[in-house]
Amino acid sequence: MATVEHANEGYARSIARRLDAEMAGTVQGLLIDGKRVPALSGATFGTVNPATGADITQVARGGAADIDLAVAAARRAFENPAWRAMSANDRSLLLYRLADLIERNADELAVLECLDNGKPWLFTKAVEIEGSIKTFRYFAGWPTKFGGETLPVSPRSGARILNYTTREPVGVAGLIVPWNYPMSMAAWKIAPAVASGCCVVLKPAEQTPLTALRLGELALEAGFPAGVINVVPGLGDAGAALVEHEGVDKVAFTGSTAVGKSIVRGSAGNLKKVSLELGGKSPQIVLPDADLDAAAASIAAGIFFNQGQTCTAGSRLYAHADIAEALLARIAGHAAEQKIGNGLDDATTFGPLISQEQWDVVSGYVAIGQQEGAQVMTGGRRPSGEDKGFFFEPTILAAAGPDMRVVREEIFGPVLSALTWTDPAELVRQANDSAFGLSAGIWTNDIKTAHRLAEAVKAGTVWINCFNMVDPASPFGGFKQSGWGREHGRAAMELYSETKSVWVNLS
Ligand code: NAP
Ligand code: MG
Repeated sequence: MATVEHANEGYARSIARRLDAEMAGTVQGLLIDGKRVPALSGATFGTVNPATGADITQVARGGAADIDLAVAAARRAFENPAWRAMSANDRSLLLYRLADLIERNADELAVLECLDNGKPWLFTKAVEIEGSIKTFRYFAGWPTKFGGETLPVSPRSGARILNYTTREPVGVAGLIVPWNYPMSMAAWKIAPAVASGCCVVLKPAEQTPLTALRLGELALEAGFPAGVINVVPGLGDAGAALVEHEGVDKVAFTGSTAVGKSIVRGSAGNLKKVSLELGGKSPQIVLPDADLDAAAASIAAGIFFNQGQTCTAGSRLYAHADIAEALLARIAGHAAEQKIGNGLDDATTFGPLISQEQWDVVSGYVAIGQQEGAQVMTGGRRPSGEDKGFFFEPTILAAAGPDMRVVREEIFGPVLSALTWTDPAELVRQANDSAFGLSAGIWTNDIKTAHRLAEAVKAGTVWINCFNMVDPASPFGGFKQSGWGREHGRAAMELYSETKSVWVNLS
């Protein structure tokens, strides 16, 4: 079924039309061992364009038997000298080549993501596609630099001992990602996994399988041997099969805290290594001396970008009572300036939510907030004129209180719950009174206050006078129920490798 029908189309729409025509009526196969194949069961599922609600294409629905095949292919590739004995420099070159291919296909990938996820294509290109290129280039630098150490051990016997460590790839890694940043999440996991020498099976989210499959094909074009990167779209049961598989040595997961907990249980069979990037409910803390214009612009972007479907979304605002009114007015101004619409239009800054299911969740939370006594300052409903698709207005819930569900639970939509404070000790207590600890924003021009708050806040990332800055060089992950481990940087290479300590008696 065609999802784009405009005659007077722009550049992105012309790409979308071609992609739609190519995919309509097809079944997008799984990518296993270098080949696109149907699911063994023959089952398929549809993927929908959230801006229109129309089907884009059918996708092969991987299940446990397909996961078996993909894990076996990854294991063969891992044992194959073509991969196992490849020099660090050659592995590095493959990653650089893949980055170049993503760059060459950037427009098409951004439009494909826009069709599948709904997010504005220009933002997708600037953030996800550029970010993925940067991630592959960053990790392309690691294979030639990631080694062990020689250590000054002190044996009691006085023997002369040489002790050194090596890093070995952990083996076959199962990668499970969500729908909110499909390309970025795949890149954040595939790049360090293959840089470390692992072979992978990627299970994309059921709502957004298309760019992951394309990425897998580009990896083959870059020269990655068949079976090193397998992509198996499917539903949650495919993810669970990967988690429980005895042939998988490591699972890396990004998604909800609830599924994260089931992954910890499901991986116990062979005690595979597990890393988790889970939910968040990140506080934005604004001091009375903050630059209100800068803070408002960034706080608005921090909750409205990607329609609030961001794990680090700054969804709890703690504004000092003296400036709260002025700050909220400015944030509401930014909400009003959002250009809501189909992400294929260059002017669009705010697309639809991912699904009707997510629309119901977000709208349900706004109703809960009102019942709890919060006030809808702006938004809270479907924008007028958008009768198709899963559009929901940028929303501010003012007069929120610390015990409200809209302050305690992750909404994963464009809803800012705004609180005020006067006592700094109580502010810190409330900011940390959360099951999550992914990130926090601090807005002040006082250098001591800024650093003291950065120390006091329990979060994996703290942004001072900025928000949502992410870079492959800087560790990313959460305290508390926001997850286990850190992606990016050297920490990510460590996630996908084992340390071996070797003792040599030289006496
Ligand atoms: P989700 O339901 O947890 O799904 C994430 C992935 O896990 C999807 O591929 C999903 O497959 C799969 N899955 C579902 N059930 C599974 C199971 N029992 N075993 C193994 N895999 C399973 O999350 P989502 O709804 O896609 O994404 C939204 C949530 O992710 C939010 O709560 C958000 O905070 C969190 N998130 C966190 C981060 C972070 O970095 N901390 C980043 C992005 C999102 P299906 O698609 O078929 O369900
Ligand atoms: Mg879709």
